[in-house]
Amino acid sequence: MRKNTHSVAVSGSSLNTLAQNGTTFDGQNAAIISGQGSELGNNTVLNGRAKRKIISQKMALSLIAIAEKKGEPEKVKAFWNTYYCQNRLITHDGRYHGKYCKNRFCTLCSSIRKAEIINKYYPVLKTWPEPYFVTLTVKAYPLKSLRTMLKGVIKAFRQIVGNYRKMNQRSKGTKLMGIKSLECNFNPVRRTYNPHLHVIVPNKETAEILIKEWLQKWTAVHTIRKAQDYRPIHNLETALIETIKYGSKIFTEPDVNKKANSSNNGNIHAAAVYNIFDAMEGLRLFDRFGFDLPKGTAKERKGARVVTKYGEWVFVPQYFDWLNTENELTLTGHVPKTELVNLLENNIDLLLE
Ligand SMILES: [Zn+2]
Repeated sequence: MRKNTHSVAVSGSSLNTLAQNGTTFDGQNAAIISGQGSELGNNTVLNGRAKRKIISQKMALSLIAIAEKKGEPEKVKAFWNTYYCQNRLITHDGRYHGKYCKNRFCTLCSSIRKAEIINKYYPVLKTWPEPYFVTLTVKAYPLKSLRTMLKGVIKAFRQIVGNYRKMNQRSKGTKLMGIKSLECNFNPVRRTYNPHLHVIVPNKETAEILIKEWLQKWTAVHTIRKAQDYRPIHNLETALIETIKYGSKIFTEPDVNKKANSSNNGNIHAAAVYNIFDAMEGLRLFDRFGFDLPKGTAKERKGARVVTKYGEWVFVPQYFDWLNTENELTLTGHVPKTELVNLLENNIDLLLE
C-alpha cells in the first residue's frame, strides 16, 4: 500500500449490502460482513482486480448512455449496479468483502465465474484421452436477425446431441459429450454479428461428427465447411479459458497494448456489445452435454457476522484504486498502463452497431 499525497472526497455506495458499517450499541464502529471474502495477500491478483474494475466502470458508463438513448430504464439500473460492483470493500483479517453485481456484462463478476467454471471442469476434462477444440459457426448476420440466429445455433446443437443420444440408447453410434460456450463477434466494417460455438470434446471422432452434422443441419445457405474448425488440444487450461470467454469479447482486438492510441478510435464497440448481451438475454452461454460432474463437497458458507476491527475502502476512478476512507491509503497501488487509459478514454465507440 502507498500513501496518497492528495486528499480526495470519497463516498460510499448504498448498493453494498454484503459489507455494511455502522455503530454497535456500545459505541464501537462495526461492519457486517458475510461469505468467505477474497484474500488480500496476493498483489498480482489485487492489481488484476483494480484493472478489471477500471474497465468495468468505463464499459458500464458507455452501456448506460446507450440504454438511456434506447429508453431502457431497467437496463440502465442493471448497468449502474455493475458500475458499483465491488465499489466499497471491507477488509478484515487478511481478506476483503464487497458486493458483487452478478451481471453477465460485468468484467469483475465474469472473471470470478470463469475461474469457478475452470476449477469445476478442469479435473474432469483432464481425464479425457485426446481432447479436441471445435468451432461451429454460421454466417454473419445484421442486427435484426441476431437473436433468432443465436437461438437457432443453440437449438441446432441440442438437436444434434439429442439425436445421437437416442441412437446411442438403441446401441447405435457414439454418445456425444463435451462442454460448449456460445459467443458472438461483431464485424465493425460490415456491421454484422457472427454467432458461434466453442466446444471441447473428448476425442477426434466426436469433433468430426459435430462438424459433419452441423453442416448438414445448416446447409450451404447458412454456413460453409471452411468456417468450421477442429484441432487437438495441447494445453487444456488455455483451451478451457478460450472456450469460456463468456459471451462477448469487450475488445474487438484482444491485444489492448498493440492497438490503443488516440488516433485509432473505436476499438471498443460498446453499442455492439450492448446488442450482443441484449440478444443473449435468457440464453445459456456455457453448458456441458452428455456427462455429469462428480458430486463435489459443498463449500462451507460463512454467514453474516459483526466485526469491529476492519478497514473500509471505496473505489475512486481518478486514482484507479480503492482508497481507505480514514487514511486514504490505496488498497492495491495499481498503476494502469497508459495504453489502457487512452483506450478507455478515447476508443469507445457508442454508435456503430
Ligand atoms: Zn459485478
